[in-house]
Amino acid sequence: VNPIPDQGNFENIPRLKKVAGPSNGPRVKGKVVIVTGTNSPKGIGRASAHQFAQNDARALYICDYDDSNLATHKREMESLYPGVDVHTRRFDAADEQSVKAVVDDAIKAYGRLDVFFANAGVVGHPKMFTDIDADEFLDTMRTNVVSVHLAAKYAAPAMMKTSDEKKHPSGSIIGTASVAGLRSNAGSSDYSASKAAVVSLAQTISYQLAGTGIRVNAICPGVVQTGMTAPMYDAARARGTEKKIGQLNPLGRGAHADEVARVALFLGSDESSYVNGQAWAVDGGLSAGHPFVP
Ligand code: NAD
Repeated sequence: VNPIPDQGNFENIPRLKKVAGPSNGPRVKGKVVIVTGTNSPKGIGRASAHQFAQNDARALYICDYDDSNLATHKREMESLYPGVDVHTRRFDAADEQSVKAVVDDAIKAYGRLDVFFANAGVVGHPKMFTDIDADEFLDTMRTNVVSVHLAAKYAAPAMMKTSDEKKHPSGSIIGTASVAGLRSNAGSSDYSASKAAVVSLAQTISYQLAGTGIRVNAICPGVVQTGMTAPMYDAARARGTEKKIGQLNPLGRGAHADEVARVALFLGSDESSYVNGQAWAVDGGLSAGHPFVP
């Protein structure tokens, strides 16, 4: 069964008549944006919130189940970007009611939702697969996969109803996957499987949303220096092998969160208007092949 609705004459598809051009100014001016997993001070979520705010988003919802830094992040963003409304939410990204509530709040306050960046994630269980029990595996799937499903489940209908012109709906849903979802991963099998599932969700949901103008993509970072990888860096430092982490990458280093955040900004903006259903590796070339380290 072809899930794509019969669109008849190509020229008659209203959404194709308006094509967003490249932005000459702030890339997400006026957009309402939700970003999850924003509490971690060096994390991809916080860096992305800054990118969206710096590029004139109208409102930002920064959400995390750990809210210990959210008020500080909010104050910091409000002083740097006074024109942006910043809202904090303590929520579990894998909880249906929490996700629905933040989407409902955005629609109630602003009458629209433009970007949902489902970025919250956990590292899984870095041990031999034979030692991972079913509950541990399910915990990882719940946070890393169900969260992206719920983001799309509630964001897409809201975007469809409320985007600028009803004839030309738009919206961008982004999930954070990983290069670990594109190829094998020495760390945790539950993590890899969960991130492969995020890629699959982006591919499948983008097709199910065919004809709506809403885009769904996954970002696949390589090794990024964040709260998540801090224990790995610390352990490598203790062993004196920290440099090896960079040497395994064609660019010779791990990424800064901001380098991933800038791709999230691009995928959330109209500049990526024809990018849909993709897994975007932001990994310095790690997934391109086997590194040659002389
Ligand atoms: P991080 O640990 O620094 O930040 C993750 C944030 O997600 C934390 O603030 C945490 O509290 C939050 N979170 C976890 N579970 C949650 C839940 N159920 N509900 C709400 N918030 C929750 O890690 P990061 O590196 O910034 O990770 C961001 C995303 O990038 C994750 O999905 C991660 O899997 C992915 N990623 C990271 C790397 C890397 O090298 N750091 C590589 C590939 C993919």
